[in-house]
Amino acid sequence: MAFVITELCRDEKAAICLDVCPVNCIVISDTQYVINPDICIDCGACELVCPVEAIFFEDDLPDEYKSATLLAHNHFRN
Ligand code: SF4
Repeated sequence: MAFVITELCRDEKAAICLDVCPVNCIVISDTQYVINPDICIDCGACELVCPVEAIFFEDDLPDEYKSATLLAHNHFRN
């Protein structure tokens, strides 16, 4: 389980989350920032600072943003 960044990031990309993540697991993708689910330690710091409330704990993702989990997994798949 991990925190997940939704498409709400796309028009903002404020990047404040990068400054607070203690394990540096947030990177930019083609369209938005994404969290590496294998590294995220579920601290919640990024969720608190996001100005557009784009970040959710995976279990709490609203139905309309469920695809964000797949986007993150695909981004870090090797
Ligand atoms: Fe980084 Fe914590 Fe956010 Fe995970 S929950 S991405 S560890 S700031």
